[in-house]
Amino acid sequence: MARVVVLGAGIGGLPTAYELRHRLGDRHQVILVSDRDYFTFVPGLVAVALGHNSLERLQLPLETLSRQQGLKWVKGAVQRVDPEAKKVYLPEQTLDYDYLVIATGAELALDLLPGLGVYSHSVCTPAHAVAAYRAWQEFLKDPRELVVGAAPGASCFGPAYEFLFLAEHTLRRQGLRDRVKITFITPEPYIGHLGIGGLANSEQLTLDLIAQRGIETITNAEITAIEPNRILLGDGRVLPFGYSMILPSFRGAAFVRASRLGNEKGFLPLLPTLQHPDYPEIYGVGISVHLQPLQTTPVPTGLPKTGQMTEEMAIAASHNIAVALGELAADPVVPTLDAVCFADFGDTGIAYIAAPVIPEAQGKHRRLAYAIQGKWVSWVKAAFERYFLLKMRRGLSVPWFEQWGLRLFFGISLVRPLQPTVFPQKQPLIKT
Ligand SMILES: Cc1cc2nc3c(=O)[nH]c(=O)nc-3n(C[C@H](O)[C@H](O)[C@H](O)COP(=O)(O)OP(=O)(O)OC[C@H]3O[C@@H](n4cnc5c(N)ncnc54)[C@H](O)[C@@H]3O)c2cc1C
Repeated sequence: MARVVVLGAGIGGLPTAYELRHRLGDRHQVILVSDRDYFTFVPGLVAVALGHNSLERLQLPLETLSRQQGLKWVKGAVQRVDPEAKKVYLPEQTLDYDYLVIATGAELALDLLPGLGVYSHSVCTPAHAVAAYRAWQEFLKDPRELVVGAAPGASCFGPAYEFLFLAEHTLRRQGLRDRVKITFITPEPYIGHLGIGGLANSEQLTLDLIAQRGIETITNAEITAIEPNRILLGDGRVLPFGYSMILPSFRGAAFVRASRLGNEKGFLPLLPTLQHPDYPEIYGVGISVHLQPLQTTPVPTGLPKTGQMTEEMAIAASHNIAVALGELAADPVVPTLDAVCFADFGDTGIAYIAAPVIPEAQGKHRRLAYAIQGKWVSWVKAAFERYFLLKMRRGLSVPWFEQWGLRLFFGISLVRPLQPTVFPQKQPLIKT
């Protein structure tokens, strides 16, 4: 009996554990490790920060889910992995593994910018979203300048746009819009770049919405510091604010860097099969994985790793572990990195479809690239949230009917046979 240990129980880790359970049956042990008691549907946190949803509705208790789905659940923050001895160190115990999946998401690089996360808010963790909502309620009592955006090096721009338009919608609905000057600041070279060089008509759709809603924008924005009630930019500009939500840049979990498994940012440099090049029994899933950047921008930006890309990695990693264990007579697969992503702006929304998000070679075009705007996007996003949580309650990752629907309605698939991909063959590991 092999022991497969999955680190992190988020959008990547929990579906990976379910898929492994499903593929490996009772013949092998699947252990799920999480530093939190709850699974959180992270894409819903923007709505929590603006009072459109409650955190409780986005969370599920991991102990109960694990018991119901036949997983062994271990609560604890991973401190270190010893890849030679195949051991995971937690504060109160040590776990042995035969196969390891690292799905511990992002650590927020708040320390890179003075005042970031101190005077500005973020929506990246449950605690941040709750704190952001408390401050938002105070702001509504005396609304003034609102500054929304992202720090240099940020990679996850979708939530910044979502917060911007949802906040504007909220202010309008409450009759407060004319009291608030709204500014969007982003390191992207242009609106709708999204860290991926844009997506067909997404730039125009976003610019039209920004113009309709009277929002000012600053692109190539290099925030140098955030002080109480003002943001300082590299070009000398100073932006006063009554409320500010600035997304930080991400890096890999501290234990990945401490265990010398990651690159200089702590992201895992993986083979296309999602295996670590030096330790093939270690796999990575989700934000913790290093993907080759598409292009450099005047102010640094990163590459987004969306929920669907994460689910694809979960499917691929669990498939490949089942193949390695001899439980599946099939060839290894790789994630396609195709994605559909829904952004809810309150009274409208934009669906982004990219297949793949990252074209494999320079100059190679995406098979599909378009954005669609409409009120229906908000409904679909709300419905998807409920559907995703239902899947997690039932122990499902991406069932056949979802895969079928994605192919039928959006033309995207999740995994494909092994071929050259955007995953780096070998990256320098950090030496500490
Ligand atoms: C605000 C926000 C909105 C988003 N909106 C969208 C969207 O609309 N659509 C979309 O496709 N994508 C969206 N994304 C991206 C999406 O949420 C991510 O792709 C997805 O969460 C990545 O999954 P993950 O498993 O890598 O990380 P997570 O879901 O963050 O899970 C990581 C888990 O690992 C745990 N962990 C971390 N360190 C340790 C440790 N040392 N020991 C044990 N456990 C640990 C964490 O507590 C967490 O539970 C959004 C992201 C954010 C931040």
